[in-house]
Formats: sequence, C-alpha cells, structure tokens
Amino acid sequence: MDETAILAALGADPTTLDPAPEHLHTADARRRFGRPCSSCGTPGVSTRIIRLPHGHCWLDSCRDHMLKSFRLREGTGPRTVDVFADLREAAAEAGVALTVITDEAAG
Ligand SMILES: [Zn+2]
Repeated sequence: MDETAILAALGADPTTLDPAPEHLHTADARRRFGRPCSSCGTPGVSTRIIRLPHGHCWLDSCRDHMLKSFRLREGTGPRTVDVFADLREAAAEAGVALTVITDEAAG
C-alpha cells in the first residue's frame, strides 16, 4: 500500500499536510508532538515524514491513527518492532521517558 492509499485509509487529506524536509531530525519531530492528528484532529502523539507526489509532508497522528498506520504499512515498510526501536533510541537521545502501550484487542 503506497502512502497516498494509506492517507486515504486514514482519512487524512494530503493537501492539508505541512511540508517537511526530506530527512527526519529528532528535534523537528519533537516540536511537532501534540499537534492535531492529520486524520481526526485529536492531539498527536507521533509524527513522521511521508513522501507524496507533490513532496515530503508531515503526518501527525494520535495514538489510534498511529497504530492504524502501522497496521496499514506492515509488509510495505519498516517492521513495527523496528519502528519502536527507533522510538526508544530517539527518546533516549532526547532524554525523555518512553512508554509504549499496545491494545491487543484492537489488533
Ligand atoms: Zn487521529
């Protein structure tokens, strides 16, 4: 599933996403935490850069849409375990505590 299809499944409008640099810098991502989820407007808990036909954009996500995004990307991108390893590394680099909570019932 490509990024455009993932955005459609998430209900995010690609024309409203903020432009992003090509590469993620932890400090830039940290400043985006708490921005409205690109799908539902709930305060975001994660962000990532996606590549769309018109350029790189920030995709901010609440917990539920972050998890849905992971499920949609399974098999087409990094494995979830690798994403969490990256999050742990970024949190350690930033000197902040990170707790990952999963919802087994949600799949
Ligand atoms: Zn959301």
